[in-house]
Amino acid sequence: MTRVLISGAGLGGLALAQALHRGGVDVAVYERDPTPATRNQGYRLHIDANGNAALRACLPPAVLDLVRDTSGVNGDLVATYGQRLERYFAQEFPGIPESEISNVDRDTFRRGLLTGVEDRVVFGRTITGYRIADSGRVRIEFAEGGTDEGDLLVGADGVGSAVRGQLIPGFGPRDLGLRCIYGRMPIDAGTEPLIPAEFDRGFSWVAGDNGIGVGFAPVRYRHRPGGYLMIALVTTPERIGPDLHGTVIEATSSWDPRIKTIIGYGDSTSFFPITIRASDRIDPWQSGPVTLLGDAIHTMPPAGGVGANTALQDAATLAAELLSDKDLPGAVAAYERVMLPRGFDTVENSVRMLGQMAGR
Ligand SMILES: Cc1cc2nc3c(=O)[nH]c(=O)nc-3n(C[C@H](O)[C@H](O)[C@H](O)COP(=O)(O)OP(=O)(O)OC[C@H]3O[C@@H](n4cnc5c(N)ncnc54)[C@H](O)[C@@H]3O)c2cc1C
Repeated sequence: MTRVLISGAGLGGLALAQALHRGGVDVAVYERDPTPATRNQGYRLHIDANGNAALRACLPPAVLDLVRDTSGVNGDLVATYGQRLERYFAQEFPGIPESEISNVDRDTFRRGLLTGVEDRVVFGRTITGYRIADSGRVRIEFAEGGTDEGDLLVGADGVGSAVRGQLIPGFGPRDLGLRCIYGRMPIDAGTEPLIPAEFDRGFSWVAGDNGIGVGFAPVRYRHRPGGYLMIALVTTPERIGPDLHGTVIEATSSWDPRIKTIIGYGDSTSFFPITIRASDRIDPWQSGPVTLLGDAIHTMPPAGGVGANTALQDAATLAAELLSDKDLPGAVAAYERVMLPRGFDTVENSVRMLGQMAGR
């Protein structure tokens, strides 16, 4: 039986593990985080039609139901505003059925994706590199000690991928010279009335006269009370001070008072910085027993809200190829023929969107 090793129990790695496990493939996932609760990579994720299709393809029905039931109430509006909340643009998305997922809380989503494959995932194992034996099998090594061996290694280990570092030396995402400060305002009886009605309907982007923009989007859980409003400021590195919440407050101090109020009620401990990066398109490499998926190969700015959706698509495509009647090299080559152009088209769209949002 084919044995697949996956580096990274992020969103793409777990979706792939689900699909392969469901298809009867022997799969082992190694994750450097000590526990599933360790990540602090963001809050709300927008899931689009491609992401929904990939989830349907990868997940057993009971896990898909769980992911849907723990997702956010669907939004129906994407809008942009000036700093006095004058609306520039709005697009409505009426009637998204409840069977579709339009937003998730990242940690909740990741826990959902782990359901049923817990015994396939080993936390606290950092892959440092691999060796391909004469037999063609791949042996991986862990920083914590020990090795494992399989027929295919999938680097689903995100922006700083160790697998990519060895497979394509010198290739990696570049810094686009912008930073995000991410945080959130908890929604409770006290803060709920402060949220402008349109901000509660989807994604809102407010572009300030000072070249700074802030995105707002709610997660309101479908079947439990509460939730939060995600707050994401995009700015240049030199405008970020040591107090991140203070930086967001300061950057928006002359904006509409409703915005100042919700930022002021943000949870100060929730704010963290992110470097905005993008990968340049590369030529296909010679396919073999090591491949890449998601941010490990095509890192993109969060502007389009599609990085996770693309990683989920990669997982669905790779799983379909591995579960087809192609031999292993044929399946990996077929996956890479689809994944590479799709991933880099999406990176380039996201970079264009970032340029529009950040006025570049
Ligand atoms: C703030 C923010 C907001 C975003 N919003 C959206 C959105 O709304 N919609 C959307 O589609 N995308 C969004 N994205 C992008 C999305 O988060 C990523 O594209 C997505 O997480 C990529 O999934 P992945 O599985 O490739 O990598 P990840 O989810 O990053 O997973 C990689 C995993 O590999 C592990 N790892 C790393 N190195 C090793 C190693 N050496 N050994 C073992 N494990 C390792 C990491 O710990 C991690 O768990 C956003 C990103 C950010 C930062």
